[in-house]
Amino acid sequence: MPPRLQLYNSLTRKVEPFVPREDKKIHMFVCGPTVYDSVHLGNARTFTVFDVVAKWLRHIGYEVTYLQNITDIEDKIIARAAAKGRDPLEYAREYDQKFRDDMRALGNTAVSTYAPATEHIDQVKTQVKKLISSGHVYLIDGDGWYFDLTTFPDYGKLSGRTGLAANDAYSRIDDSEKKRNTGDFCVWKLSKSGEPVWEDTELGAGRPGWHIEDTAITEHYFGPQYDVHGGGMDLKFPHHEAEIAQQESASGLVPFVRYWMHAGFLETKSEKMSKSLGNFATLHDLLEKYDPAVLRFYLLSNHYRAPLEFTEHALDASQAAINRISELMHKRSDIVIDEKTAIENIHEAMNDDFNTPKAFAAIFELVREANAKGAVPPHSFFAFVGDIFGIIPEQLAEIPNEVGKIVDERQAAREQKDFATSDRLRDQLADLGYTVDDTPYGPLVKKR
Ligand SMILES: [Zn+2]
Repeated sequence: MPPRLQLYNSLTRKVEPFVPREDKKIHMFVCGPTVYDSVHLGNARTFTVFDVVAKWLRHIGYEVTYLQNITDIEDKIIARAAAKGRDPLEYAREYDQKFRDDMRALGNTAVSTYAPATEHIDQVKTQVKKLISSGHVYLIDGDGWYFDLTTFPDYGKLSGRTGLAANDAYSRIDDSEKKRNTGDFCVWKLSKSGEPVWEDTELGAGRPGWHIEDTAITEHYFGPQYDVHGGGMDLKFPHHEAEIAQQESASGLVPFVRYWMHAGFLETKSEKMSKSLGNFATLHDLLEKYDPAVLRFYLLSNHYRAPLEFTEHALDASQAAINRISELMHKRSDIVIDEKTAIENIHEAMNDDFNTPKAFAAIFELVREANAKGAVPPHSFFAFVGDIFGIIPEQLAEIPNEVGKIVDERQAAREQKDFATSDRLRDQLADLGYTVDDTPYGPLVKKR
């Protein structure tokens, strides 16, 4: 029997056994994108991590409803659309569609329901009104309805940060001299002229603040309490703190969410990869260059809570890894190797806080063993690896036999530390128009 699943809970800062609220049924929510630009690789990492989390939970027998919001009304969308002379709602719809297309292309298929904010305005209004009647929210005339942090003493319990003095990007955006506390955030913005607006006699014509759409949406689909909430590490504060404040204040039920999971950053030269840096490729660009299996292997190659470095070399290593898998998959052999140990090791790794790098190590142990014995794993093994991780490539890298033979000879020479021969063979490959790079997963051959 595989060990029971345990995972790191950001709320308790501990690895805990996973015990859902209702036996086998799991309600899982992950913060979706703000759709004003093409999705970049940092966000793609978060969505790929939770895609695999949902697929793994389903694999070990849970019934998972995986919900993701789409922020399709927000300051950044309005500003970007205005700069381009576009209607903000239409502009957001276009990028929502692009986002979903990119996710499908990358193999992120686990989401059960995408919930755009603009399709849940009634639920937002209902929650804001609940917070008004319980005294958690106050009106700043001509501006909007604000959550009063002094009414929620538990604020900060997720991030360990105190809210009253909070001075973060969002409280700056939700800025007003008339706020009661610096960290107070807007739940219903009264619209300025020319902005999208939803009428309401009690609240005034306006639109949702950023934090409120998530809790309005999850309360609608899941009720006031549920099992798993995921998102990028950067959302822990203030966004997720605000969600806790809103929902626990609206319902009086604690905890709002049992398990909070946060995915680490994608980093480039140790700089946080944020949109403002503008120094990275979009997912769409990368999908033109790499098989989705390669990108997924790369995105899952480090533990989800740890940072992941974005380098060309890391992508090359992933390409080499995927080529090894692909070669083995297309190899013919009458000897079929037993895959049970590998599958057990993958279960053990995944049930220990979704340790994908350890699971990948188990896959490569089997690949090495099969190659050493001139054997192949059963096809069901590749199907399993494909279903969970999505790292089975669509296409086999086409390398002519002649080139493949030289690469193998060069590899053998390297293993015997015969670098003179290995260098000579590298030159021979160059003459044929091929480059070879050595990665932890073996040589990567590319046509120049
Ligand atoms: Zn969110």
